[in-house]
Amino acid sequence: MNGAPDEFHLIRRYFAPLAAGEPGALGLGDDAAAIKPADGHSFVVTADTIAEGVHFLPDDPPNQIARKALRVNLSDLAAMGAAPRAYTLALALGRGRDEEWVAAFASGLADDQQRFGVTLIGGDTVAAPGPTTLSVTAIGEVGEGRELTRGGARAGDHIWVSGTIGDAGLGLRVLRDELSSGDESLDAAAISAYRLPEPRIALGNALLGLATGAIDVSDGLAADLGHICEQSSTGAVIELPAVPLSEFGTRLAADDPAWLTRLITGGDDYELLFSAPPAAESEIGALAERLALRITRIGAIEPGSGLRVLDHAGNSTEIGSAGYRHFQFDR
Ligand SMILES: [Mg+2]
Repeated sequence: MNGAPDEFHLIRRYFAPLAAGEPGALGLGDDAAAIKPADGHSFVVTADTIAEGVHFLPDDPPNQIARKALRVNLSDLAAMGAAPRAYTLALALGRGRDEEWVAAFASGLADDQQRFGVTLIGGDTVAAPGPTTLSVTAIGEVGEGRELTRGGARAGDHIWVSGTIGDAGLGLRVLRDELSSGDESLDAAAISAYRLPEPRIALGNALLGLATGAIDVSDGLAADLGHICEQSSTGAVIELPAVPLSEFGTRLAADDPAWLTRLITGGDDYELLFSAPPAAESEIGALAERLALRITRIGAIEPGSGLRVLDHAGNSTEIGSAGYRHFQFDR
């Protein structure tokens, strides 16, 4: 890590202790880390940035901002079937972020390091005049040549998704005072989905050799299914009524079916979306039970290209381009 003296203080006091579990991190005292994967494994590497005002709000608790920055990256590792190993952090501290903020931020990282078995191995801290942004590069390990990709889906495969869809987008609307369910516990659950996504590490690992194509839902269910189709040179059909919704989402969709489209084109879900041959159905059911995780079949891969969305009556419905406008490179 490089930086001005006060940054050395922050690194020594708050970040170096987070590197204690990985000898290759060299205590964050060197120019770079030096690590190698376990025998027969490859590194899987991903980078994602989260920015104030986009992925978190200025007043969000710093420990949760830290955990979200880490978790969105761990979610990418999960989508590849990889086990988390290490990460680096580039932290641009915007105005108003004092040492107390950094201390709470680092404690959030410590909590999730323990939870997900991952260790800080390097990074950089700068003071910036603009909003706070955090870039994490996460490194995972997977058996050589076994990683899940977006490119293996085949016509006839079923399409599955974990958890429920659209809650993070609802949470953001609640935080912005644009929406409320009228039920405090449902509002709180949506806020938690936005602030603290759950990377589906165990599911990703269990899908090795089972799923043909996989992605984590960051741009919205429809857009991310589009990414699988592009990389697999296939089309897909999803049945809107099959898309798993929370209680909050279910209530909104019952009042106004237009919500269904909003929920599948919102982003930040960090659930796993994957394809698997029909013969895998019972194994996926058993997996859902073992992981105590909802895994729902929502459609099928088809020949051709593009995404068809069917409504309650089985008619094709337009979802607009909302889910396709993202310009970020999510890898
Ligand atoms: Mg992703």
